[in-house]
This record gives sequence, structure tokens and C-alpha cells, in this order.
Amino acid sequence: MSAQAAQQMGLRVIVLDSDPNCPGAQVTPFRVKMDWNSDIGAAELAQLASSITLENEWVSPSNLLLAKQLGSTVIPEPHTLSIIGDKFRQRTAFAERGLPSPRFCAISSWDDLYKAAENWGGKVVLKSRRGGYDGYGVKIVHLPINDKDLPLSEPDEWYAEEFVPFDRELAVIVGKNSSGETAIYPVVESRQTTDGHRCDVVIAPAPNVDTELTRLVQDICLSAVDAVEGIGLFGVELFSRNGEIIINEIAPRPHNSGHYTMDGCRTSQFEQHIRMVRNLPPGPTHLIAPVVVMANLLAPRHGQINLEKSVSDAYRICPNIHLHWYGKSVLREGRKMGHLNLLGDDLDDTLSLVLAARDAFWRGVP
Ligand code: ADP
Repeated sequence: MSAQAAQQMGLRVIVLDSDPNCPGAQVTPFRVKMDWNSDIGAAELAQLASSITLENEWVSPSNLLLAKQLGSTVIPEPHTLSIIGDKFRQRTAFAERGLPSPRFCAISSWDDLYKAAENWGGKVVLKSRRGGYDGYGVKIVHLPINDKDLPLSEPDEWYAEEFVPFDRELAVIVGKNSSGETAIYPVVESRQTTDGHRCDVVIAPAPNVDTELTRLVQDICLSAVDAVEGIGLFGVELFSRNGEIIINEIAPRPHNSGHYTMDGCRTSQFEQHIRMVRNLPPGPTHLIAPVVVMANLLAPRHGQINLEKSVSDAYRICPNIHLHWYGKSVLREGRKMGHLNLLGDDLDDTLSLVLAARDAFWRGVP
């Protein structure tokens, strides 16, 4: 979707991916046909592209550094990626900056985990340092810890975090360009699926967040971007407990909690991303409706979809809906296949309409 925004701004887009069906290949005919995480691919891309960016934080920082040394502007910076790509380093950067964080510690043996659980009220969150997403790589463990609760990988591939009994999760999209200009979006509430840790619905603006709390949250998010020496576009996730704010994590790219901006804000996060990468002035970030609700289209099961019918069913229930389908070829249970945005005046009405449209969308999936 960043590629679409870049093209709309008159830029020629080249994607690096060996897969001819990758979403980027549906947007642009220009493709370096190599693995997105290969050094030769990064080097070839650097010969062709003046600016390089990403929508996936697992690109190796050393490949990005190589592209930078070959003369491309690389945003986010490889250094930022190396901090964010290791959640323990990310947490350390936030703590060093004095940002409100849960207690956390490295784990070099499972004994370290038991000790942390004893010290922190019997419940800990075990997080994979690298490669986690959508809750894969997050395990909540309770005392007494049974060996079968432990992951099979080595303890030092994980770290432990205090369990935060939050009331709700908030998120903010932040942009920063190389000149130091920033764009900060409204504070939104992100509601997760009941079965796991996937984002289900995003509500903008977050209900019951007054001006003072908005300022506090936005300040924390700007500091989080500074803590990782960030330039580009970032999604910052936070926990809220009785009005107290605790930072969860930062993503160095457009984020699911910012998909509502595509129809709900003056500048979508994807256009903002490209503006930041090209060091252009930030676009306005405010909402264009009193309420905007985004509902993810998470595949209910493996299988096929009659997309035309599902789209038509959703629009028939709610003609005002904005439907975004990502063009992924395979439906897998829980996979994010697209999302719906709806603008409205009243939260309850808007939420129930978007959920009804989503039910109608999936009804046809056998
Ligand atoms: P991912 O990068 O996989 O999304 P997160 O670190 O955001 O992983 O964790 C996924 C979800 O797990 C969060 O949205 C939250 O619901 C829950 N979670 C993560 N850390 C904690 C914590 N310290 N205390 C309580 N719940 C947590």
C-alpha cells in the first residue's frame, strides 16, 4: 500500500521479491526477482533505487547497510532496524530513555524465568527476542511453570516481561522525516481477538481520552521514536491501566493500527510514509469524521473465497464501507486478508455496522 501511495505521488516503484505473486508485484511491473532478504538483492536494488524503504521489519540490517553504502537513502535506518528487530534491545532503549515500561529481564536459563515470575507476582510474559508478530512469539506463563509451557528454543532467544493487567490497548502512528519534522496521528484504541493477540478492531479516536491524556500519549510516542533514533513512519503500541500509560512496542513501518487513516484522515499513513522517506513536509493528520472504525478481515479458516460475492455482500449491508483487500493468494485461519473502514458520527452505530458488514463478507466462505 506504500507502493500505491508512492506511485500516486509520481514515483517509480521497484519491489525486491522473488515471488511473482507478492502484493508489491500487483502494483508495479518493476521487480528485482530475488529474495527480499538477500544481500545481492539489496545491492541490485540500490543500483536502481534512490530511496529504499520497507513494510516488514525483518529485512536484515546488514543488507540495508550495504544498500546505504552503495548510495541509496535507506529509511528506516539500518541502526534503527537493529534496535527494533530485537525486542529486548528495543525495551532497553525505551527504559534508558525513561519511558514508562514494565519490568523486564534477559533470560539465559529457564531459572531466570522462574525467578522473574516469583518476583513479579507469579505471572510473566515470555517474548521471543526476534521474529515475533501477531502474538506468535508471546507466551504468558504462570507459576508453577510446567516445562511443557516453555518454548523448545534456547532460553536466550527469549526475554521476560512483567505482565501488565491493562484495561485497553492504545496506538499512535508517528512520522518523522530527515529534517526532523514530525507528523503525529490521533490516539486510537486497538481491540484484540479473544483467542489470541491479533488486532481485531481499531477505534479512532480512542474513546474517553481527553486532551491532556492525548498529549501525554503522543509525547511518549515521539520519545519512543527518538529512543530508536527513528526516521520514517512508526506504529507505537501502548497499554493503558486506569489512565496510566505503559509502552508496549514500536514497529518501524506503516502499522495495522493505522489502516483507518486510509479513509479516515486527511493523509493516509502510506502517503505519510512516503513523504517521510522522501524528506517531504508532513501531511495533515487529523480525522475527517467524528468516528472512524477499522475492522480487520482475518480469515476464519483455511480455504477458498468467492471474493466477488463476499465484497458484494459486505457493500450491500453497508454501502458506505471502504473495503481494502490485500491480494494474498492463500486463506489461512487468522491471516489478515484485508480490512474494512467506516466513517461515522456515533461509535456504537459505526461499530455495529462495520461488524455486520464483516459478518456478511465472511458468510460465503465455506
Ligand atoms: P506482537 O509483536 O506479536 O504483536 P506484542 O508484544 O505486541 O507482540 O504482544 C502481543 C499482545 O500480547 C499485545 O497486544 C498484548 O495483548 C499482549 N501482551 C504483550 N505484552 C504484554 C505484557 N507485558 N502484559 C500483558 N499483555 C501483554
